[in-house]
Order: sequence, then C-alpha cells, then structure tokens
Amino acid sequence: MQFHKMGLDDRILKAIAKVGWVKPTLIQERAIPLALEGKDLIARGRTGSGKTAIFLIPAIQKILNHKDKLKEQSTRVIILAPTKELCRQIYQNCIQLTSSCSKDVKCTNLSWGSNLSVQKPMLMAVCPDIVISTPSRILAHLKARHLSLKTSLDLLIIDEADLVLSFGFNKDLKELGSYLPPVYQSILTSATLTADLSELKSLVLNNPSVLKL
Ligand code: AMP
Repeated sequence: MQFHKMGLDDRILKAIAKVGWVKPTLIQERAIPLALEGKDLIARGRTGSGKTAIFLIPAIQKILNHKDKLKEQSTRVIILAPTKELCRQIYQNCIQLTSSCSKDVKCTNLSWGSNLSVQKPMLMAVCPDIVISTPSRILAHLKARHLSLKTSLDLLIIDEADLVLSFGFNKDLKELGSYLPPVYQSILTSATLTADLSELKSLVLNNPSVLKL
C-alpha cells in the first residue's frame, strides 16, 4: 500500500515527499495501517528497515486528528528509547516528518543535559504533543510534576524495547505505569522478540499484533 492510500493527512504526505521517500518499506506497509486503526503493535525491525516511521507517522496523524477537534494543548504521545543518541535520531526524524505541520505538532527531546530544572519551564509552557526521552528522564519529570500524562496520553511507544530492558530500565518502566491513564495505544519495536519482552507486553500491550520481518 502506498503512503497516499493510507488515509494520511496531506501535511504528512507533503513531509514524506520532502524527505524523498517514494514508497513505504515492507514493515511500514504492514505496520502503519494497523497502528492507524488503533491496534497495539510489536514490530521486529532491524535498524535500517524504516522502523522509526512506523510509530512517528501514526503518532503525528493521531495528533492532527485530535487538533482538528480540540484546541487544548497536552502531551498525547511519549516515545521511550534506550539511549540519548537514539532519542536524538528519533527527534530528527520527527522534525522532518512534522516539517509541514510544525505549528500544530510540537515535539521535544528530553534526553539531553543533566539538569531537570532547565527543561521544566519549557515543558510547562510549551506542553509538547510528542515527548521523546529515556525512561529514567521522563520518570524524573513526572515525579517532579513538570509533566502530566494521566488524562492526555493516547500513545506510548517504546523503541528498541529489547535494549531498554537489557539496559536495566525495567524498574523505571513499571513505576512509569502509575503515571499513565488506564487506556492508551502502545507500539513496541525490537530487534529480537525475546522472553524478556513478554514481561513488557503485559505491562504495556493489549492483545498486540506481532509483525516480524
Ligand atoms: P530506520 O530503520 O527508521 O532507522 O530508518 C533507516 C533509514 O531509512 C533512515 O535514513 C530513513 O530516513 C530511511 N527511510 C525510512 N523510511 C523510508 C522509506 N519509506 N523510503 C526510503 N527511505 C526510508
């Protein structure tokens, strides 16, 4: 299925054209329509498979759908990744894919720097639609009440979930659960589908579709 047959907002299609992507990769073709339907997903994608767009495109679409109905500004999507470098790459992709709707979809990367208080005013004033972070950093902001997701979160994404677990973020993720609403969509990507991942499945996923390449 081509991007323009997926029912995406014109502003997303324009951004995809600007980046120069002519057609979806195999994993994008399968995962994006499911994610747009609101399904929970686990996608096993190698780096280079185009896995970042399988969660960024549905995330941006969800926000635009919502913005067309309501004016209130709140964080609807969080993207957790195991390293600062991966957070930076996801943020750069997000900036590219929101280039034609940057006024309507605001995205922030919290993984940089060491001082929470520097990020606090920005978080409270801008209230970004999409927040990208390592699990420990977003948890610190939630505990300090710089950010609230209890009523607004629509979509939780964990990129490279196998690494998130092997880097020891399990405890942070469990604690994070208490700051989230009872219902939200989840998308997980992982290079492998290990036994450990099933621990995470029960925490964040509801009867997910599993896509393997
Ligand atoms: P990722 O696996 O998300 O890290 O993406 C790997 C590379 O593929 C990045 O440079 C993306 O910009 C690029 N990419 C992602 N989707 C597409 C696509 N549909 N067509 C061409 N390149 C793509």
